[in-house]
Amino acid sequence: MKEQSLKVAVIGAGVSGLHTARELKTQGHDVTIFEKTNRLGGTWAYDPRVEPDPLGLDPGREIVHSSLYQSLRVNLPKRLMGFLEYPFTERKDPREFPGHEEVLLYLEDFAKDFGLVELVRLEHEVVRVERVDEVSHEWVVESRTRMSESEEEAEAEEEVFETVVVCNGHHTEPRIAEFPGMDAWPGVQIHSHNYRTPEPFQNLIVVVIGNGPSAIDILTEISSVAKEVHQALRDSDIHFKKLESHDNIWQHSMIKCTKEDGKVVFQDGSFVYADVIKHCTGYKNHFPFLRTNGIVSVDDNRVGPLYKHVFPPQLAPWLSFVGLSYKGVTTLIIELQSRWVARFYLARWHCQVKKRWHHLLKNSTSIWRRVDGLSATLISFKTSLIMKTG
Ligand SMILES: Cc1cc2nc3c(=O)[nH]c(=O)nc-3n(C[C@H](O)[C@H](O)[C@H](O)COP(=O)(O)OP(=O)(O)OC[C@H]3O[C@@H](n4cnc5c(N)ncnc54)[C@H](O)[C@@H]3O)c2cc1C
Repeated sequence: MKEQSLKVAVIGAGVSGLHTARELKTQGHDVTIFEKTNRLGGTWAYDPRVEPDPLGLDPGREIVHSSLYQSLRVNLPKRLMGFLEYPFTERKDPREFPGHEEVLLYLEDFAKDFGLVELVRLEHEVVRVERVDEVSHEWVVESRTRMSESEEEAEAEEEVFETVVVCNGHHTEPRIAEFPGMDAWPGVQIHSHNYRTPEPFQNLIVVVIGNGPSAIDILTEISSVAKEVHQALRDSDIHFKKLESHDNIWQHSMIKCTKEDGKVVFQDGSFVYADVIKHCTGYKNHFPFLRTNGIVSVDDNRVGPLYKHVFPPQLAPWLSFVGLSYKGVTTLIIELQSRWVARFYLARWHCQVKKRWHHLLKNSTSIWRRVDGLSATLISFKTSLIMKTG
């Protein structure tokens, strides 16, 4: 493998894309960042708009990238939100868990300080990434520039790159809960991706599905204006109860079914007539632009085969992914992954490494399925990334 400047396409200008670009630039590579929106920051660029399809089921809908709600504060102490080599210092918000605006300011400063702004092609949506031919290492990246709101007037461009790093984020394509009767249920169903403020829920009876950080934030916020909030949890130990800390929040087991008269029946036998069901049920990994002839695929939301969630052995190092593993301290994982990718291009590429990855992946797939997300596995995952990045 040549040890000189490579022409690299980075898809996305969020935390992952920006840090990857910085690492690649430091190693002397020629980097272009494609960003489909009109600003950098990814998730942290708050967008007050919501999508026309509140559950996000229509593949043709106009997509709003960020899933942030207006009141969101970070869920990690701010010093864990920054990169090791560029600490998260206070800008405007002095709180230990600042608002989302502070993260965007941090990323904007990071991009300015490392000369990344000029590498970003804003409003360039990547619509196709495909190898030039089956034996080539090179990739065609087709992007579309939105000249106006009308799709017909979008301008398409094709460019060939030696290597592509996918950093398109994974908090945009909603994953929803499914239960009998949901299609005929007369109320409004919304995914948390399309939640911004509590006002639309004034005096309503709302069922919130989920127990992750967004579900807890949203149900607490909605409870300040809604008539009643009912949380449906997957945990089998949960039975119907009122939360002592709030006058109008109840917990239930998961939804068993919904009825045409508006009734929502829970598995613990309790029920409520609700106006809204809010799916705070996470997101899908989604790469609509990626064409690898099935070499990389998404199965049950697991992207594979990927060595350490970064390199597909068959296409490595010419294709890689940064930002996919999300449990733990996200920024640290992204920083280590992007550093590994950038330094890997410098290393001599041996078939032996690929063979070893294939072997490791073959033996680890079933284990990952069972334990993905367990802290012990994550600690060893991070440790191995640290060893690889030096
Ligand atoms: C509600 C919410 C709260 C969160 N809170 C925290 C928190 O408190 N702390 C924390 O550490 N993490 C938090 N996260 C996780 C957060 O997403 C990550 O920290 C981080 O922002 C992920 O960065 P990323 O660059 O991988 O993806 P993103 O930030 O999603 O960036 C991806 C970028 O790729 C662009 N893109 C996508 N497709 C294309 C395409 N086809 N062509 C060109 N550009 C494209 C997008 O426009 C976007 O700019 C939260 C996430 C959500 C949804």
